[in-house]
Amino acid sequence: MSTRGPQWREHGRRDPAGRARPAAAAAIVALRYAWALPTTAVGLTVLAVSAAAAPVAGRVRTRVVDGVVEVYGGLVDVLLRRATLLPNGASAMTLGHVVLGRDAWALDLTRDHERIHVRQVERWGPLFLPAYGLASLLVAIRGGNAYLDNPFEREAYGVA
Ligand SMILES: [Zn+2]
Repeated sequence: MSTRGPQWREHGRRDPAGRARPAAAAAIVALRYAWALPTTAVGLTVLAVSAAAAPVAGRVRTRVVDGVVEVYGGLVDVLLRRATLLPNGASAMTLGHVVLGRDAWALDLTRDHERIHVRQVERWGPLFLPAYGLASLLVAIRGGNAYLDNPFEREAYGVA
């Protein structure tokens, strides 16, 4: 037993205030990213395809905000405008730790909402996309709005 360092290091995984120890906190973050990786891979694939399509569809841009890769412009803008099930397209879409946006302004405007979806993917992992789709289907069968009445969207709109 060492006498150096904060006393809480000798007493398990949490300090007296209930915060995770630094090493445990880093491990938890790594697990969240790993659990979300299958969904993140879909977002990274969209990024790769959009980058390849830049000569035709325009330049796609990226930035990292709070550990999330935000992608906008070019083919991503086209896809969000024309390839979603929403009548007027989508401003943004979360795919794991990748968030697609029409433009930088749309990403700024929707960040709080999309971060709720990032947290949902961290909870559901590879089950997120199937669960989201199944929830929309069940809501539609019951006569609700497949988007607005989806429990994942209700949670995100409830916060943002
Ligand atoms: Zn949403």
